[in-house]
Amino acid sequence: MRFYELHSVPDESSRYTGDYSINHKWGLPGVHCPTCDASWGSISEAYPSVDLSGLPEAKQLEKAWLEEDFSKFERLRAMVRPLVPASARLTPGTRFGPLVGSARGTFPQLYLLYAWMVIIRREALEQLQAEGLRGLKGCRTELRFRQRNAPELLELEMELHGSSHPDCLPPGGREPCETCGGYDSGLSKPPLLDKASLPEHLDLFRQRDRHGVIIITERFADTLRRLGFEEYALRELPVR
Ligand SMILES: [Zn+2]
Repeated sequence: MRFYELHSVPDESSRYTGDYSINHKWGLPGVHCPTCDASWGSISEAYPSVDLSGLPEAKQLEKAWLEEDFSKFERLRAMVRPLVPASARLTPGTRFGPLVGSARGTFPQLYLLYAWMVIIRREALEQLQAEGLRGLKGCRTELRFRQRNAPELLELEMELHGSSHPDCLPPGGREPCETCGGYDSGLSKPPLLDKASLPEHLDLFRQRDRHGVIIITERFADTLRRLGFEEYALRELPVR
């Protein structure tokens, strides 16, 4: 089985006019980690099916902010932990809940709004599920459209699986930071996946130890091609 990194096409080559002003309903703050000295603000993990409305801090988690106090970040993360999939790392900046905001224009079947976020039209998701692809979890959005024939857009929720092979890492390997759970972003060589770490039950997932990398199986790639999906690009990730 081959594996591919899923990418978007450059904006200038898109045939579609989709335009958005959106964000997830809730999120953990960004934070500076006292152990590894990383300042976390960029997002690469999102759980759109997770509802935080029952937490006393829900209102506070609606705004995005940079938390100075790491122990406060840890308290917030511990509260969210029981509500998310077991594979979640919950790095600072992780987002939750439906996408809210406004959108307009035309949209392809499936596309990456950011490198780490996959939006899909409901009928496209149903097509892919009917083809037997596994692990496609479409989550509703709360987007406002000011147009006729607005599409129903869903966000795909992805689990974290798969690690870099030691041969592409610096000598001695690379462990996540014990405090914030983040990985040093650098690979010392071109990316290589560790075969033993890859899930056998999913056709789509996020790479566990590389920020923002979305991986699909050869089966998924073949299906996209056969069904004529547009507006995506693939790069093969070698496996050892
Ligand atoms: Zn850290």
